[in-house]
Amino acid sequence: MAEQKFKEGMNAIVTLPLPVFKRYIYSIPLDLAPHIKIGIPVFVPFGKRNVTGYITGFCRETPEGVKAIKEIIDIQPFFSPQLLEVFSWISNYYLTPPGLVIKASVPPRLSIKETVLVFAREDSPKKILNNSQALSLYQKLLKRPLSRNYIRWKYSSFLDAYNLLLRTGLIYEKIKKTLPSGGAMKDGVTLTIPFEVSLFKRLSGKAPKQAEIYAYLSKIPNGVRKQTLYASVKKAYTAVKALEKKGILTFFTIPFEQKIPCLSVKKKKKPRLTQAQKKGMDKIRNALEQRRYETFLLFGVTGSGKTEIYLRTAEEILKMGKGVIILVSEVSLTAQTVEVFKARFGDSVVLYHSRLSDRERIEIWRGIREGKYPVIIGARFAIFAPLPNLGAIIIDEEHESTYKQKGKEPFYSARDTAVLRARLEKAVCILGSATPSVESFHNAQKGKYTLIELPERIDERKLPSVKIVDMRKEKDYLFSRSLKEKIKDRITKREQIILFINRRGFSNFLVCRDCGLSPRCPFCDVTLTYHRKDLLLKCHHCGHEERAPRSCPACKGTRFFYAGMGTQRIERYLEKEFTELHVVRMDIDSTKRKWAHMELFFKFREGESDLLLGTQMVAKGFDLPKVTLVGVISADTTLNFPDFRAQERTFQLLTQVAGRTGRGTLGGEVIIQTYAPEHYAIQESKLHNYEGFYRKEIEIRKELNYPPFSRLARIILLASEEQQVHTSADNLTHLIKELIKKKGYKIDVLGPVPCPLTRLKGKYRYHILLKCKKPFLIQKILLSARAHFKTKGLRIMYDIDPFDMM
Ligand code: ADP
Ligand code: ZN
Repeated sequence: MAEQKFKEGMNAIVTLPLPVFKRYIYSIPLDLAPHIKIGIPVFVPFGKRNVTGYITGFCRETPEGVKAIKEIIDIQPFFSPQLLEVFSWISNYYLTPPGLVIKASVPPRLSIKETVLVFAREDSPKKILNNSQALSLYQKLLKRPLSRNYIRWKYSSFLDAYNLLLRTGLIYEKIKKTLPSGGAMKDGVTLTIPFEVSLFKRLSGKAPKQAEIYAYLSKIPNGVRKQTLYASVKKAYTAVKALEKKGILTFFTIPFEQKIPCLSVKKKKKPRLTQAQKKGMDKIRNALEQRRYETFLLFGVTGSGKTEIYLRTAEEILKMGKGVIILVSEVSLTAQTVEVFKARFGDSVVLYHSRLSDRERIEIWRGIREGKYPVIIGARFAIFAPLPNLGAIIIDEEHESTYKQKGKEPFYSARDTAVLRARLEKAVCILGSATPSVESFHNAQKGKYTLIELPERIDERKLPSVKIVDMRKEKDYLFSRSLKEKIKDRITKREQIILFINRRGFSNFLVCRDCGLSPRCPFCDVTLTYHRKDLLLKCHHCGHEERAPRSCPACKGTRFFYAGMGTQRIERYLEKEFTELHVVRMDIDSTKRKWAHMELFFKFREGESDLLLGTQMVAKGFDLPKVTLVGVISADTTLNFPDFRAQERTFQLLTQVAGRTGRGTLGGEVIIQTYAPEHYAIQESKLHNYEGFYRKEIEIRKELNYPPFSRLARIILLASEEQQVHTSADNLTHLIKELIKKKGYKIDVLGPVPCPLTRLKGKYRYHILLKCKKPFLIQKILLSARAHFKTKGLRIMYDIDPFDMM
């Protein structure tokens, strides 16, 4: 029914950002018709109000009582027909309502919003005197108007009182329209009249503040940011207004420019490609020249020069007048990537990640749409960047779980989306990794992806030697004797060290030595993390905080044992043990500020400290030639996860961390501490043997029918009452099994069982796992289950190809 081209007499299909799979039809007023296209945001009537939606197609069908589009919000489309196809695929594959997919991909505050505001009329309240709720609400509204949504939320039991007030006319509702954010603002200020002594004197007499501003601005011929002016001349606000009125100064728009502090870009000479790099580039160039889609798996050991391949590809793309998206797996890695790309491509490069302000995001998004930034470096959602002419997508460290969105719909994989988008836009996709995901390597083996190998490090540098330390034989449970010795050695040699703590969740907690109790989060099924600095216990899942108790809440004992090993604890240990050591800590807590991760990285690289200590953030991607020792405090944490990817993750993580050393002329060494030294994931990472690991792992996957031999879906049910989740999970499983039987599909259903994290943010959680050989069968079943199964107070999440099994 839907068509892509608008012809006379057609109606528009509009997708609204609502949790429904429905599309709505609207007629197109004549005067708007010339601007109507796929991707145009429009303002349309919906029920009693108006909302923002997006044109996603056209049809000849005219439903009874069809309403007309009210306004066009932007005459430039928010997405191209190809990008719309990507959205539709995501919506179908990940079972997410299409409007929510679009909403997740465009910057916030670009829509028209209507809010209902409630005002009070000054009048005698005699009609409501006997209703205390109405009276108090009326008095509140007399002070200031409130939004109806706020009232409904804050005074949920006041509904009758509210209606009474409306009936008596003491209050009334009024719709307030919020327009889309303009992005660009007039935030520059400059003089319109050059400096004249006579004018200055005149001003000085009557308005000294104005004179001061006049003098200040006269020294800056091209104007200055308002903020700068206000910072330099105190209390200047009124005086600036007055000068504007007199026509002495004026405001102007400063063109947007992304500012990345602490970045000093130095031009470097382009290196000559190695033989392996050249071979790889030939394959990529070939696809580019023929303008055909192809996905490459760039399998190159750590330090083999994968980034140079990315750079050369980008160069080709720019020559063709096209654009490229480069996805990076962690914000902490963007510093390095932005630096090398800026050095080569200057202002064509933009950083598009989640830590931008709304305004920056809007400006950058608009710039991308206009073709101003053909080189985009970003996190997951940058895969939706509205580039006018896409040439290539590059996914660095393609195996990383961060490319899969979790916790919030759509649960999409940016990597899989990249492959699809590249295919739709006839672009090239490059998946790079030293430790490819089992799925991607399997795809390369089957010929679905083209394999490019970089088997050796640049300049014939050797991969570091890895020593595995059996912690069962050590006295100290944090630091083995070898690790301590090596650290001492590096301190005397003035070489750098990276220490990696594999800590996801369970660490750094308080245990009562008398009764064994450890304080747990009252809302989640986890122990609370102890933060020594502020003496707080914090939940890393829901943010709950409480003071660390002085005595045990159960037995009143006062002897606590600080178990686990968070980054802060290790930092303290190091400072005590090696007094002259200078430590930089990089973890969630130390990188909260917008640019903190960059500052820490550059600080360490410049040699301001000797040891970089951190979590996953320090494990990947960094290219730091002075690091000659990498220590892994405990390799086992991820190995013990109840997840079929646990071995793969452990292998990847260890190989990646090991890859952080030996990147310069000084060589490198790795110490891995573990309680499971014989495990193949650990043994193969010692040998840097990806293919050895892969061969073992793929056998296990085959035997157990796990991906890539099957597709998985995980259904998570959440509710406040355990009984409710339990019963609902049983019912849903029953329904799913019925549907499967009716269709005659071959799908395995596992569960329902409580999730490993049974309680999170106050909700009980159960999950069901579905396994099937063929794609899209599971979706068909779940779509129909989703339509038939609704229970009040219950939330259900459908996670296709899940990465997170907790
Ligand atoms: P990877 O991403 O594969 O771990 P990098 O791309 O970080 O490796 O490359 C490692 C180092 O080698 C970088 O400092 C890079 O500048 C350098 N390099 C890459 N290619 C070449 C080359 N052809 N000749 C010389 N140096 C190179
Ligand atoms: Zn919690």
